Amino acid sequence: MNIHSLSSALSPLHPPLCVLFGARPHTMAQAELTPVEAVLMVVLVYALMQLGQYGIKQLRLRPFVKELRSQQSAYYASLPQHLQRRFEKRVANFLLRKTFIPRGASFEVTLAMKVQVAAAAVQLTFGLEPVYLSHFSKILLYPDRYYSTISKRYHCGEVNARGYIVLSWKDFEAGYRNNTDGFNLGLHEMAHALHLENIIQNNEHSFLDQEHLAKWNNLATQEMQLRQQQPEGFLRLQACHNAHEFFAVSAESFFERPHDFSSHHPDLYRALAALLQQDPAREVYQL
Ligand SMILES: [Zn+2]
Repeated sequence: MNIHSLSSALSPLHPPLCVLFGARPHTMAQAELTPVEAVLMVVLVYALMQLGQYGIKQLRLRPFVKELRSQQSAYYASLPQHLQRRFEKRVANFLLRKTFIPRGASFEVTLAMKVQVAAAAVQLTFGLEPVYLSHFSKILLYPDRYYSTISKRYHCGEVNARGYIVLSWKDFEAGYRNNTDGFNLGLHEMAHALHLENIIQNNEHSFLDQEHLAKWNNLATQEMQLRQQQPEGFLRLQACHNAHEFFAVSAESFFERPHDFSSHHPDLYRALAALLQQDPAREVYQL
């Protein structure tokens, strides 16, 4: 082939030697997006990612919700339908944040047990903006009361400032088996966790209303002082050990015998209802 015939072979009528080489500037310009199209594309990709994540989360939440609905605990069953949906969401979100650790040989923590523990925490906090007791990421379950090498005594539960909630399953269950006697280990320990969570510096710090908390603290102090002279009273004597115990014991009666609590200590009851933003005596679960 001579030079003439080569130049003829490379004339514009023939396809380019290579696609990359043959790409012309205006072809590239056509492939670029306008600013509006680019923004729409970013929004679309972001929306699809969010949708995907939402779908995955819903799949993870589903077994918790199913279990909660099958249990129909007294508190959950008393909620109107739209609050039941909110309760379910909170229980599931609580469970996604916690690690359950079984203690004791061949003791297994089932899904049903996890859901019951989560429901106790959500019951206590349901009136407030969502709070998941984030400092307490680990929940230790013993089958029965356990021996503490520190106190040299058997315990049925405790809340450890290092981030543990510890429960004897036998006592936890007994607390809900009779839910009108003012004894409820689950609510008691969750109340300790809530009380501490409010003062621990983290993402859930100071969620309790300062004014309501101050009022509650004043009334609780007065009642504890009164009980020094008159040991007999509506709340069991354990309440008078300190402010933490007073809050935890009060929370048990607040939910299990709200009418009696309200008639024995109307001011205390109202203060606790304001603090927790719910009023079980009037069947109002979110004030
Ligand atoms: Zn206690």
